[in-house]
Amino acid sequence: MIIHVDMDAFYASVEIREQPELAACPVVVGGREGRGVVAAANYNARKFGVRSAMPIAEAKRRCKNLVCLPVRMPLYVAASQKINEVFYRYTPEIEPLSLDEAFLDVTASEHLFKSAENIGQMIKRDILKETGLVCSVGIANNKYVAKIASDINKPNGFVYVSKDKQQPFLDPLPVSRLWGVGKVTQQKFSQYGIQTIADVRRQSAVFMQSVFGNLGQHFLELANGRDGRRVSSERKTKSISHETTFEQDVDDMRVLRAYLADLCEQVAARLRMKHYLAKTVNIKLRYPDFKTITRAVTLDSPDNNTDILLQQVVALFSKAMQQNKSAIRLIGVGMSGLIKINQLTETNEALQLNQQNKQADMFEMQNDNSVLKKQKNIDKIADAVNQRFGKKTVRRGRSYHK
Ligand SMILES: [Mg+2]
Repeated sequence: MIIHVDMDAFYASVEIREQPELAACPVVVGGREGRGVVAAANYNARKFGVRSAMPIAEAKRRCKNLVCLPVRMPLYVAASQKINEVFYRYTPEIEPLSLDEAFLDVTASEHLFKSAENIGQMIKRDILKETGLVCSVGIANNKYVAKIASDINKPNGFVYVSKDKQQPFLDPLPVSRLWGVGKVTQQKFSQYGIQTIADVRRQSAVFMQSVFGNLGQHFLELANGRDGRRVSSERKTKSISHETTFEQDVDDMRVLRAYLADLCEQVAARLRMKHYLAKTVNIKLRYPDFKTITRAVTLDSPDNNTDILLQQVVALFSKAMQQNKSAIRLIGVGMSGLIKINQLTETNEALQLNQQNKQADMFEMQNDNSVLKKQKNIDKIADAVNQRFGKKTVRRGRSYHK
């Protein structure tokens, strides 16, 4: 069985945990310098129609008393790390989609913990107890159904779909719940009077092919609850990637760039968290017609610095958009060719020192050429973060010899 865990309003929930007096307020996180886009909105803000990917200015128009907080990525990374530790108690087969969302394959560990349903409940309980954060859990036979299950009772949802209840669960859902159906496809369905997943199932393969091309078969498969995608854990694939599917296709470059920056920051933070450098930077774009492209570039030297990786991500993205200026349905950022930092040999010491300097940049350290002062700054920052989140949150591979 597959479990999909999705934190509820993640960035906003972490901020409210830190400032509980904001709990009753409409809160968004985002709008940091040059990125006027909502990264996360709590449920009080959503009541006003505020959504992620919305420009902050628009969000403020909709909600006069909106509280806008800056993005504090180290906080979310620390929370995500704790959440991951919870997952690992129950299975090593974890595929994170972002800092706040992951698929878990619990097929091999189900019997150890009685049942997949039981694992889902324990994960929900552990996460709340250890991070103070609420998540939604969906459990089903495959990724597609598990993801719908986690979404359908948000926030604080828990939906278990057993194999024999799968079809009754899917049938009444609108066609928009089919993975890959955007606005345009939805209109096409409605032209033929097809509203629900049950309606889709009644269509012939020939009809579906004639209307939707190759996607026709794909929609039929999903409508019948068939999804062969596996949970691909970082352990096996040696790559780290995060992606976002938009509720509606996005053509606003500002929003797309903001999302790229956010995803890149998440992925880079995860690299650093796991002590990896990446050799190759990848992006993934899915268009409204479901066509998906990936683009990659290999770095001159492996890296895990957000700004350096983001430069490459933005370059790949700009090039892809020049070739095909289209709205985007899904956007993803990935790093591959991973190297464990502690596997580097002595001869790569220079590279390591370089990395340490770069890592300090993540905390927006002021420019200063004095190594000693830099060193002190790093210590100060590391100490502050470690005190805040417990030891080892920030640590270095080795110390300076100078
Ligand atoms: Mg979420």
